[in-house]
Amino acid sequence: MRYAMFSLPGDAEPRLGVVQGSQVLDIKTLHSGSDQVPTTLLSLIQRGPATWQRLRELTDASAGATRHPLDAVRLHAPIPRPAKNIVCLGMNYAAHARETASARGRDAKLPQVPVFFTKAPTTVTGPYEDVPVDWSVTQQVDWEVELGFIIGRTGRDIAAQDALSFVFGYTVINDLSARELQLQHMQFFKGKSLDGFCPMGPVVVTADEFGDPQAKRLLTRVNGVTKQDSTTADMIFNVAAIIEWLSKGLTIEAGDVIATGTPAGVGMGRTPPEYMKAGDIVETEVEGIGILRNRITTIRDL
Ligand code: MG
Repeated sequence: MRYAMFSLPGDAEPRLGVVQGSQVLDIKTLHSGSDQVPTTLLSLIQRGPATWQRLRELTDASAGATRHPLDAVRLHAPIPRPAKNIVCLGMNYAAHARETASARGRDAKLPQVPVFFTKAPTTVTGPYEDVPVDWSVTQQVDWEVELGFIIGRTGRDIAAQDALSFVFGYTVINDLSARELQLQHMQFFKGKSLDGFCPMGPVVVTADEFGDPQAKRLLTRVNGVTKQDSTTADMIFNVAAIIEWLSKGLTIEAGDVIATGTPAGVGMGRTPPEYMKAGDIVETEVEGIGILRNRITTIRDL
């Protein structure tokens, strides 16, 4: 299943849909008998496996549901407002760890344990939305394509061999970064948490349909020029290991969003460094999920 949140012109709130080819099935229009169908992807995930199965059956039967052409709807982030910060990994690809160390004049040291940090929930934006930047706050806006995943059930102290059964599905995340803030503040949070700095989507592909999360190509293009082109096989800590490490003594909950780190090819690691400016189009893509396409713009006074 490929879940999306979308809206039609005039909608006050995004709706839950299932993307099928060039159409999106409108869950709200399913004839579900006495069942209350979930209205958001987050509520669907939180209601658990029995609801997931029921919705799958209703969708397969279609039950008179309305389908909209994808090009006639606006897609939103699949979880437009996560309940918590997004948990991210830094330096989770060896080549990226080396380019980061080199850009900062240090020796590369690969992490022995995952480097966790977070992004504020207010960073999340849609797969095709503009990202307005306040250039008085940052002039070093960088791209980071990442495989994201969504936790499907709550747990703690999860062993790696069980970990993938805790994943609901996978999405694409662009972990946009304000590099000078990341350095100045001595901690990643501020430089990673500016408004709109987490494009997400265009869909969440359920774990059963996505297959092996460690065998996917991921790419970034800026104005059509490829900047990152790698594979999730190169992660230092794979999805199962990330869940094991994160959940040691720390409860992870249904609906939590986790970004698995970016491969080499970020702007900061280039000679000379390259950062984005107003008008640039950044595309981030993960095989089997889709492409985010966001234009960097200039924030306007409210
Ligand atoms: Mg990142």
